[in-house]
Amino acid sequence: MQFPPRLRLAQTPTPLQPMQRFCLSRGLPTIWLKRDDLTHSGASGNKIRKLEFSLAEARQQEADVLLTYGGLQSNHCRATALLGAQLGFKVHLVLRAPGEPEAPYQGNLLLDLLAGAELSFVPAAELKHKAQEIEAKWVEHYAQQGLKTYCIPIGASDATGFWGYVAASAELATDFSIHDIPTPRDIVMATGSGGTQSGLIAGNAAFNLEARVWGINVCDDEAWFQNKIQADLTAWSSKYGLEPGYRLDDIRIIDGHVGEGYGKASDEVLRTIADVAKLEGVLLDPVYTGKAFHGLLTEIQRGRFDGVDDIVFIHTGGMFGLFPFQDRFTALKAP
Ligand SMILES: *Cc1c(COP(=O)(O)O)cnc(C)c1O
Repeated sequence: MQFPPRLRLAQTPTPLQPMQRFCLSRGLPTIWLKRDDLTHSGASGNKIRKLEFSLAEARQQEADVLLTYGGLQSNHCRATALLGAQLGFKVHLVLRAPGEPEAPYQGNLLLDLLAGAELSFVPAAELKHKAQEIEAKWVEHYAQQGLKTYCIPIGASDATGFWGYVAASAELATDFSIHDIPTPRDIVMATGSGGTQSGLIAGNAAFNLEARVWGINVCDDEAWFQNKIQADLTAWSSKYGLEPGYRLDDIRIIDGHVGEGYGKASDEVLRTIADVAKLEGVLLDPVYTGKAFHGLLTEIQRGRFDGVDDIVFIHTGGMFGLFPFQDRFTALKAP
């Protein structure tokens, strides 16, 4: 498969490791972690795989500024800020927040600050309804300074960033054969803007993984992701003239684990995160991986994976998202 230009930024291939102690202690089938939390230090997680392609395109277009969006604690924005600093781009982040957040800055936001990103705080409703105006305003603002802006959508989930998890699928093909994981395989992940899942769906077909690719959504609902992932696959296929080789029922969304909403986590999710840390020394996060992993455990209990001996969970990173939850974790420890 012919890949478009790519910058080698991520530490790949990442390991595939079984959660031996955790699964044994709970009588579970073997859950394997694809350790994409190890792709980098500060810019770790899944977004760097997509940004390898987005930033290569930005370079190709001779852009000076990277403009992107996300929640206040966005992992994608943090990765963009740090990689932009590494490559010499100016980075402007438009973050969803009612206003300037209170001090002290923590988690991903602290890292955005350290990386020298320009930060704008825009209320959710405005960002939702006026995203195009906001984007046009900043593009114009930088153009007046003679600077060219490359805009990256939320999560770098577009036809370009899509390639990140097509490339990761080639790695998984090797992992599956090294570890002798039988077919059909089950790959599970947290889905937030859909790009990781859509890339894996195309990669599954391209590299014959013989896998069922399951996304556990951490926001919105099944219908929203069905549309979004189809749109991503179509955009990729038309931009690069490639056949995505999937059927509609290959888009598998497991809804029902969003809980109180995006960025909110129940005590049960936090306890699961603590248990995984204790038994595996692996850090999940409250917004994406912990919520989805807890959802996976619930689905195993309900019988969705009956008869399956091996499940691959993509550890998409997000550990800096733990820090804004310090009070909640500390409270859990109390008797
Ligand atoms: C962004 C993100 C996801 C979701 O990936 P998408 O490609 O946006 O669906 C999952 N986990 C973490 C830690 C993330 O930062």
